[in-house]
Amino acid sequence: MSRHHIVHACGHEREHHLFGNRSHRTSKEKWLAEQDCWDCDRAEQNTASAARAVEADLPAFTSGSDKQIAWAVTIRDQILTDVDHRFSDTGPLRERVRAILLRETRAKRWIDLRNDGATGVLVSLCAPGEYRDLYASEDCS
Ligand SMILES: [Zn+2]
Repeated sequence: MSRHHIVHACGHEREHHLFGNRSHRTSKEKWLAEQDCWDCDRAEQNTASAARAVEADLPAFTSGSDKQIAWAVTIRDQILTDVDHRFSDTGPLRERVRAILLRETRAKRWIDLRNDGATGVLVSLCAPGEYRDLYASEDCS
């Protein structure tokens, strides 16, 4: 491992710990220099997610710092996108799932759940028994 100070495409310099042989590190260094830094990348994602949230008229977050809310909007956007891909149609189950997810408007909660995936987040945000009922009602229809 070696430390490299890399000036990214956005102009910010960041320290990276690179692994592997010299050839691998050199190509990784070159690739990193062509990318925006992580902060700029995150800011761009947050801006895009916020625009989609406004366009879709999603509920605003009710708690959290500006930074937490910006991040939570992106996390929620990614989970909702995943849900939309899992349900091929726009049927009632998908709408019920989206409604459950959109009830949660605390930024910290979304940040805490960021690594759980769509199903994990859904299970966490369901009221007791709600997740079971969600799929039980689907089986009966
Ligand atoms: Zn940057």
